[in-house]
Amino acid sequence: MGLAMFRELAADPAAGVRIAHGIEVSRGTPGADDTPPAWLTELDGYHPCQPAELPAGFTSGWRYSAPLVHMPTYLGYLQARFESADGKIETGTVSSLLETARDCGARAVVNCAGVGARHLVPDPAMTPVRGQVVVAANPGISEFFIGAGDESAELIYLFPHGDTVVLGGTEAVGDWNLEPVPAVADRILRDCAAVEPRLRAAQVLAHRVGLRPVRPTVRLEAEPASAAGDGPLILHNYGHGGGGVTLSWGCARDIAGLLAN
Ligand SMILES: Cc1cc2nc3c(=O)[nH]c(=O)nc-3n(C[C@H](O)[C@H](O)[C@H](O)COP(=O)(O)OP(=O)(O)OC[C@H]3O[C@@H](n4cnc5c(N)ncnc54)[C@H](O)[C@@H]3O)c2cc1C
Repeated sequence: MGLAMFRELAADPAAGVRIAHGIEVSRGTPGADDTPPAWLTELDGYHPCQPAELPAGFTSGWRYSAPLVHMPTYLGYLQARFESADGKIETGTVSSLLETARDCGARAVVNCAGVGARHLVPDPAMTPVRGQVVVAANPGISEFFIGAGDESAELIYLFPHGDTVVLGGTEAVGDWNLEPVPAVADRILRDCAAVEPRLRAAQVLAHRVGLRPVRPTVRLEAEPASAAGDGPLILHNYGHGGGGVTLSWGCARDIAGLLAN
């Protein structure tokens, strides 16, 4: 469902979504990990990379086209769409889902607290996987690049968004630090410039950190006690790890189905 939705959104310039071309490469033994995941072959333009397309140090990969989302634009678009449907946004810290639902007189509350669910639910299965990125002025890059991390090297990616390019990345399990670490930013810039020499004199515009809300499985269900009782219905929708944007529309549809029952 997500792929169909993002393809549709790519037709709306306000949504911040476009279909981008690029490559995803790995350092594995040639031939040993050349089998693409099933979803990849559903994307337009999919084909294995030719050796000449691979930067130094990478041994195999795929070229494909996929929806690329500029998150600040997309979140603004979603907010406007929600408000035009008479949705109201209030911000604040929630310490109890049940009490919040009662205080608001709500029939139901949907918990989308991400890694915050670890303390809010509480759910000890939730783990932050920290990601740090550098936002730089785009020196003319039009294609995305994803170089998978492994035991020999870290994750490297470049996602161009018009005048800017997002450079990554990191996957630090259990790290709650929301502050950018300068040494990590330097490593990201060095690795990205090795893949794309036009980034050697990159003008850095911003540093960003996010926590991927990782859980062994996504939790998408009604709180059993609330489903059985007369009180507000508590629905959980968290634990999407590094795929929460991809999974968002499908999970939202499933939550809407639970609300309708
Ligand atoms: C560097 C990086 C790269 C990523 N790349 C991709 C990608 O390419 N594709 C993809 O699909 N996904 C990607 N992700 C993952 C994606 O961003 C997450 O899966 C997604 O944001 C999860 O959405 P969420 O709404 O469940 O949680 P979040 O986005 O974490 O939002 C949770 C919200 O709940 C709020 N909150 C938490 N606790 C409380 C509380 N007690 N009271 C009030 N508010 C609370 C938080 O402040 C936050 O605003 C990436 C993540 C990172 C960090």
